Amino acid sequence: MRTLLIAGNWKMNPSTRSEAVALAEAVKAGVGPAADVHVVLCPPAVFLGAVDSVLEGSPIGLGGQNMHWEPAGAYTGELSGAMLVDVGCTHTILGHSERRHGLGETDSQVNAKLKAALAARLIPIVCLGETQEQRLREQTEAVLTTQLSGSLAGITPEEMAGTVLAYEPVWAIGTGLTATPDQAQSAQAFIRGWLAQQFGEATAARVVVQYGGSVKPENAAELLACPDIDGALVGGASLKANDFLAIVGAARDVTTRGG
Ligand code: PEP
Repeated sequence: MRTLLIAGNWKMNPSTRSEAVALAEAVKAGVGPAADVHVVLCPPAVFLGAVDSVLEGSPIGLGGQNMHWEPAGAYTGELSGAMLVDVGCTHTILGHSERRHGLGETDSQVNAKLKAALAARLIPIVCLGETQEQRLREQTEAVLTTQLSGSLAGITPEEMAGTVLAYEPVWAIGTGLTATPDQAQSAQAFIRGWLAQQFGEATAARVVVQYGGSVKPENAAELLACPDIDGALVGGASLKANDFLAIVGAARDVTTRGG
């Protein structure tokens, strides 16, 4: 069975530590003590320590938005997996499209980061997805295959089962456009089919595959009702506690799925 995971990617928001603390406090109060749905907050790195203090005693996890593949060294501006763990992280986002397309991050870099995150005992959230142009050219499955095989190369079935994937069509991120439930389910089912081929059916059935791309309270329930959508990676709507909590509420109506 897969427990749904709702993760908030705050990106480069909010501007101040006190706003980050207030947002985390509101989410903590709204989520409460139950862990029927997994919830993770991914604030900017400078606020991780403050948000970790707020989340103490709550089932909510803490995630980085990125990390480096090396454990230490001369990498100005970077963070290691061990640093994320030390500040309280349980998860880290890897290969977000804003890094792949905005900063030129490659599948092989994502793969190196994935191995480093697993070695640091972080739960990686590996993002995948096609651009609008690729979708219009009917290249979605080819793009996903390239990203999956490059980003997940060389990991064991057990490591795969402990890795979260997030299907995030680039054209739906931060644009207000959302994949229809049919479009999302079709891509998610394709991803699970690929996982079954590479790692076996039993492993594929254990992998949490989130959807991301303008998820909001109005569309969360219909997306989360799809059998291969095991949660959401939420950007914009995660910055408003009430909106994020409404999405968590929609996941609570589903809770677990798969076998
Ligand atoms: C994201 O940042 O991963 C994302 C999906 O953003 P948004 O929800 O704003 O589209």
